[in-house]
Amino acid sequence: MKICSDAAGPRSVHRKALLEALAGELPVHLIRFSSKISSIETQQHEGSSVAIVHVENGTVIKAKFLIGCDGVHLVVSRWLGLREPVLSGRSAARGLAVYPQGHGLEQKVRQYVGSGRRAGFVPLTDKEIYWFFTVTSPAKGTSLARDAEDIQKEVLENYAKDLPPIFLDVVQHTDLSTLTWAPLMFRYPWNVVFGNLSKQNITVTGDAMHPMTPDLAQGGCSALEDAVILGRHIGTYILCTERTCTCTERD
Ligand SMILES: Cc1cc2nc3c(=O)[nH]c(=O)nc-3n(C[C@H](O)[C@H](O)[C@H](O)COP(=O)(O)OP(=O)(O)OC[C@H]3O[C@@H](n4cnc5c(N)ncnc54)[C@H](O)[C@@H]3O)c2cc1C
Repeated sequence: MKICSDAAGPRSVHRKALLEALAGELPVHLIRFSSKISSIETQQHEGSSVAIVHVENGTVIKAKFLIGCDGVHLVVSRWLGLREPVLSGRSAARGLAVYPQGHGLEQKVRQYVGSGRRAGFVPLTDKEIYWFFTVTSPAKGTSLARDAEDIQKEVLENYAKDLPPIFLDVVQHTDLSTLTWAPLMFRYPWNVVFGNLSKQNITVTGDAMHPMTPDLAQGGCSALEDAVILGRHIGTYILCTERTCTCTERD
């Protein structure tokens, strides 16, 4: 087992804080959480393409732009015809440990690598620690534990039992409502490079475009870069639709 700690680099972001920061920029009525898309179509309206999104509860949303950032849930990437992601042969358990009295640990990443396993944790706040554990998926036919208590037990008593006590203590403190275990998937890079990443005003970003295994710890960073670049292009497009603009960006 190799222990790596970060000298400089990784920064942790609590997903809830990120969502709140993004949501805080928009009027509340513009956001609809937990909306499951059932189908997508396009229509022409006054020379422009409009995306029509059908939600499972019967709602129909007409959009000037549709950006699929639904991770490996794939609704938009399937509509674009991108090749399906493939199984990497490994699975990951992830959770958030909570120490109501404070964990007393330094704000740094710890990682344990070896024997087909990879585990690590990073404090998010004085009381919360994010942890992950990846391992070769169980043999075909053996399903991953689904119940949070079973997942925790599997990690503690089987897969990670010989890891340092500090990692086990973090897993022990998991808020079970945050615990997940899922196969790791990725899309072959050539299917991203040569795939249909957009059609008219519909595109994908983040894991919906380029799901990757966490080995380089870059999936989330790439998703943020996608958002910045796409935001700039959409901003330029909107500015260029104003009559005064003479640049050629619009095309
Ligand atoms: C074990 C592990 C460790 C990792 N470590 C790192 C790391 O250190 N650094 C890093 O940069 N990346 C890391 N990653 C990768 C990172 O987590 C992902 O790349 C990143 O979360 C992708 O962001 P996303 O917004 O594209 O997709 P997601 O984070 O999957 O978000 C998609 C969201 O869309 C929602 N959604 C899905 N379908 C719908 C729908 N129909 N309607 C509405 N909402 C929907 C989902 O609920 C979800 O909230 C790691 C991944 C794993 C598995």
